[in-house]
Amino acid sequence: MSAQIIDGKAIAEKVREEVRQGVANMQAEHNYVPGLATVLVGEDPASATYVRSKQRTCEQLGIRSIGHHMPADSTQEEVETLVRQLNADPNVNGILVQLPLPKHLDEEAILNSIDLEKDVDGFHPVNIGRLAMKGRNPLFIPCTPAGCMRLLSETGVELNGANAVVLGRSNIVGLPMAMLLQKANATVTICHSRTKDLPGMLRQADVVIAAVGRTEMVTGDMLKPGAAVIDVGINQKEDATRKRGYRLVGDVDFESAKEVAGAITPVPGGVGPMTIAMLMENTLRAAEISLAKK
Ligand code: NDP
Repeated sequence: MSAQIIDGKAIAEKVREEVRQGVANMQAEHNYVPGLATVLVGEDPASATYVRSKQRTCEQLGIRSIGHHMPADSTQEEVETLVRQLNADPNVNGILVQLPLPKHLDEEAILNSIDLEKDVDGFHPVNIGRLAMKGRNPLFIPCTPAGCMRLLSETGVELNGANAVVLGRSNIVGLPMAMLLQKANATVTICHSRTKDLPGMLRQADVVIAAVGRTEMVTGDMLKPGAAVIDVGINQKEDATRKRGYRLVGDVDFESAKEVAGAITPVPGGVGPMTIAMLMENTLRAAEISLAKK
C-alpha cells in the first residue's frame, strides 16, 4: 500500500494564513505591526536567496521587513554593534542573522548577542537549554524542527510512546528535533555518522526524521511498515533531463520508501515550505511578547 503523502505546501499555507490573520488582528486591536530584521553578511548567493524569500513572505503576511546587508569583510564588532542596535529598536520584534556567516566571524558570539525575546530562529543557548529541560519552555523553537512537528501533528501521527529515530544531530535540525520529540513523549534515538547498524535502528522506528544531507540514503527496506517519515534533507541529484542538470531530492529514497511508510513528506514540497512559515509564526509571537510587556 502506498503511503499518505504529507503536503508541506498546503500545511505551510495554513500556517501562513493563521499568521496573516494574527497580524491583521494585532494591527486592528493594537495599531501595531510586527517587524523582522534580517542580517545578511557577504555575498553567498544561496543565503541571499533565502533572505529574499523570508522578506517576500513577510510582505505577503503584513509583517514589516527590515533588511541589513553587510559587506563580507565586516568585523565582529560591526556585526555585533548592528545586532545591539536592533535589540534596542522597538520596531524590530525578531532578528534573523542568516547562517552561515563568513569564516572569520564568531557565529556563537553573534547568536548569543541577540536579545532572547527577539531570537526568532530559536538558536540562543538559553532557548535551546529551555527546550532541553523538563518543565521549561523556550520562547521560540527553531523553525525547521518546529515545522516537522507541525507536519506530524497535522497528519495525526501519535507521538506519545512512539519510537522515534532522528538521523542527524546538528544544532539547527537534529538536536532540537530530538528534544521536541522527547517533550512529546516519544522514545527518541539519535543516529549520526558513527552509529552502528543504522538500518536496524530505523526498522524499530514508528517515526523517522532524516536530516543528514546524503542523497536518498534511507531506502524502503530500512523502514518499519507504516512508519511516518519526515525528510528534511535537500540534496542535488544529477538529472540530464533538467535544464540546470540536477533535481532536488531528500535523504530518503522516496520511491521505495513510499511503498513501506504510512505517511511521508516529498522533497521538494515537504519540510522546505514549513521553515519560513514557522519563522513568520515566531515573529508574530515575538510581537505578542513585546506587546504584553507594554
Ligand atoms: P549537518 O551537516 O550540520 O548535519 C548532518 C548530520 O548528519 C550530522 O549529525 C552527521 O553526523 C549526520 N550524518 C552525516 N553522514 C551520515 C551518515 N552516513 N549516516 C548517519 N548520519 C550521518 O546538516 P544539517 O542538519 O544542517 O542539515 C541536514 C540536511 O537538512 C541537509 O540536506 C540540509 O540541506 C537540510 N536542511 C533543510 C532545511 C529545510 O528547510 N528543509 C533546513 C535545514 C537543513 P555527525 O554529527 O557524526 O557528523
